[in-house]
Amino acid sequence: TRQLRSVRAAGLSFERMARDLRGSYLAAEAGNRAKSQFMATMGHEIRTPLNAILGTAELMQLQPLPEKIDAGIGTIRRSGEALLSILNQVLDFARSEDGKLTVEVQPTSVVDVVTAAVDMLRDRAIENGNRIELEIPSPHRFPVVETDPTRLKQVLLNLISNAIKFTEGGTVTVRLEERLNLGGARLHFEVIDTGIGIDEEGIRKLYQPFSQVDASINRRFGGTGLGLAISKEIVERLGGTVGVSSKKGVGSRFWFELPVIETTSLPAPAAVATI
Ligand code: ADP
Repeated sequence: TRQLRSVRAAGLSFERMARDLRGSYLAAEAGNRAKSQFMATMGHEIRTPLNAILGTAELMQLQPLPEKIDAGIGTIRRSGEALLSILNQVLDFARSEDGKLTVEVQPTSVVDVVTAAVDMLRDRAIENGNRIELEIPSPHRFPVVETDPTRLKQVLLNLISNAIKFTEGGTVTVRLEERLNLGGARLHFEVIDTGIGIDEEGIRKLYQPFSQVDASINRRFGGTGLGLAISKEIVERLGGTVGVSSKKGVGSRFWFELPVIETTSLPAPAAVATI
């Protein structure tokens, strides 16, 4: 009976432990939900007036303005857009923490998405004294695949803008190719730069949220440290993998792969033609 009593006591204490654990798990869950809810509400509250500021500034610039005022409004717009992009990153991060980062898969021409992302950042690359090159061997052969074009562009913009930001007077190369692996065909994307590079310790913490490799460098370049964490989450949601190789002082190569899920439908037209 003594043994039975001690087994029962052990069982009871296990039960209590399990109850405590479940209690703290539920409390943490509730805490996380409250945090995500708070971030989502704040995000929307900030986004509405920010969009009003940006919209008004844009409207004002439609009319001829004295040079100084036009330049001032230009600064308001650029700063507002930077703020909006930070806000979107924080909201995406809150969603991914909550398991609610959504992807919307549709027939997509990846060649068009990659080309659009490079075109969007071409001016910024040139401002930084960089050459930007797009390499797509036989672009006409690329299949239309099932993926999320908006999220794919978001990942590419993050990688390319990082490459531009951390390279001065160098080259940024964006490559897209189809590779045949054992598991089937994969789309392989690469963003290669000849910039400052990252050491081994930096590479280890690269995809952690809020991590920035070198605080002093990042104070100079800005950024939230969320871009890569979000990009990794997006690529994984699209069924892919991410990777990086880098050498300090030489440059970096960020890549990701997506499965080729071919579709028979045509991609949505970029613009609807008016008759
Ligand atoms: P951030 O908004 O700070 O750029 P990211 O998550 O996109 O956030 O990047 C995290 C950190 O990884 C950067 O702050 C930088 O230290 C490092 N990093 C990212 N891309 C590069 C690159 N191409 N070259 C050198 N360092 C990089």
